[in-house]
Amino acid sequence: MRYGSLIKMLPLLLDQPVATWDLPRDQPYREKQIRTWILQRFVSSYDEMTDLSLPLRTSLASRFRLRAAEPITIQGSEDTTRKFLWKLGDGSLIESVLIPATLSKTGTRSARLTICVSSQVGCAYGCRFCASGLDGWRRNLTAAEIIGQVLEAARIAGRRADNLVFMGMGEPLANLPNLLSALDLLISPANIGMGARHVTISTSGLAPQIEELAHHPFPFRLALSLHAASDEVRDQIMPVNKRYPMERLLAACDIFIAARKKLIFFEYILLAGINDSPEQARLLAQHAKRLHAKVNLIPYNKVEGLPYERPTEDAIHLFCRTLLAAGVRATVRREKGHDIDAACGQLRLQKMQEDKKI
Ligand code: SAH
Ligand code: SF4
Repeated sequence: MRYGSLIKMLPLLLDQPVATWDLPRDQPYREKQIRTWILQRFVSSYDEMTDLSLPLRTSLASRFRLRAAEPITIQGSEDTTRKFLWKLGDGSLIESVLIPATLSKTGTRSARLTICVSSQVGCAYGCRFCASGLDGWRRNLTAAEIIGQVLEAARIAGRRADNLVFMGMGEPLANLPNLLSALDLLISPANIGMGARHVTISTSGLAPQIEELAHHPFPFRLALSLHAASDEVRDQIMPVNKRYPMERLLAACDIFIAARKKLIFFEYILLAGINDSPEQARLLAQHAKRLHAKVNLIPYNKVEGLPYERPTEDAIHLFCRTLLAAGVRATVRREKGHDIDAACGQLRLQKMQEDKKI
């Protein structure tokens, strides 16, 4: 079923309480059948739900749009990073990236597939280097729209991703209720059954929400987008640092780690001349040791119109070596999607700029 105008603005089935699905009272098993079709077989139309009666299919189709996202562009191929630009029911654009596992050291390809999803349309946090916040924040994604990215990509790829990272557009911890509802469905074995250990939530540093998540039962992983090692530098590139300065943020992470005994990751985009000094590397090493964090260094992916540059390869390696010499676990992440604008928000930005030109 495509987006018929009658049901265009109606909410998605999965976002509605089951009572409103209006299932036949004497057929309680229908709910499970429908969930299986959507969450495990990734169907794109009610017609494919062949074990439902025709009147029930028609009734559902007349009231609930089934698909959360329609692909606008898909870049890349099966063996490479694939980048999806999705259009939501209200016309908003969001992005996801599907990343196959890198070659292992032995040269054999592991079968793992990682999906990077968006949590909001736009972003309110306005980190200076990021394309996602350039046009401001529009709205939170619903739980069904978060899951929809995983399901639509699974339908296109022929299988569901094994790992899920919230590193697309938006700040996931600013959309916590919908994020947690989506995770409920994604993780529960009766629904999608993804391993919670294979879910990573990335945040720009919302300290109160990090503390709240410390006591959440799901054992997901936390990635902290630090991108600077002192308030002085972080203030320049991440406005959120004014609200939750470094010490407040690191103290929240102390609580998270004490409660969960979980490894945390620092994400650190390297921006030439901004945050790549030996002094920043030394301070970063101190923070990483305090939290037993592993550091992922990310060479900056140039965003058209923004004044930041990727450091030279030598500078990147020097920074990494300084961390390693201090006894910190650190790797340089090679963005496989670099050549297809895989950093979050860039594809949408491009599309919006094109649309404005027309
Ligand atoms: N709002 C959350 C999650 C989405 S952004 C957060 O900030 O953590 C997640 C990641 O996107 C950032 O940590 C950074 O790793 C990456 N990112 C954003 N813009 C980028 C760019 N231009 N080049 C490389 N990585 C970028
Ligand atoms: Fe928002 Fe994350 Fe981009 Fe910052 S890096 S603007 S928090 S999406």
